Amino acid sequence: MLGVGITVATTIGHALVGMTVARSMGAGGIRDQWFWYAFAIFAANAPDLDLVPGFLINDPAYFHRLASHSLFGLLTFTGIVFVAARFLTDRHVYMTTLASIGYASHLVLDMPWIPWLWPLTPEFVPVSWAPIAANIQTTPGGDVATLIGELFSATNLLEIPKEVAAYLPPLLISWYLTNLSQERAA
Ligand SMILES: [Zn+2]
Repeated sequence: MLGVGITVATTIGHALVGMTVARSMGAGGIRDQWFWYAFAIFAANAPDLDLVPGFLINDPAYFHRLASHSLFGLLTFTGIVFVAARFLTDRHVYMTTLASIGYASHLVLDMPWIPWLWPLTPEFVPVSWAPIAANIQTTPGGDVATLIGELFSATNLLEIPKEVAAYLPPLLISWYLTNLSQERAA
């Protein structure tokens, strides 16, 4: 028996969109392109790292979709990458931009279930649209074992093909178009 269903993207949907962001930002044309795809996938999933402290107290949802899923979270993550990038790469502007757009893509895909203005208000800001996303059902306040059981339930796993159908085509199109423009430039 599953709990409440909400439409948010899963890790797979976020990863596909993160990769599309990197590809559209020209990652295919620069050295170490696979590092940049991996980094974009990380940035596009970074807001959900707020599940980690909840796992430690056996209440995964406790910190979930609060600070990290807000404009405050976006600015904090961008700021951290901005500072770290100066030590990690000579492409620090690229890295910071990729981080902020990848992270922002997560917030857009999780709409309308995010508190944009946290900590001013923990309320979800109502929006009249939601992106195509998986309808994931979980029990609020459930423990780690419950959550894992629910995430791997047939009901929830069957939502993933829907996401792939929605987010794989934009990735393939961006891949194809950037290939074309690279070939033209060569
Ligand atoms: Zn999320």
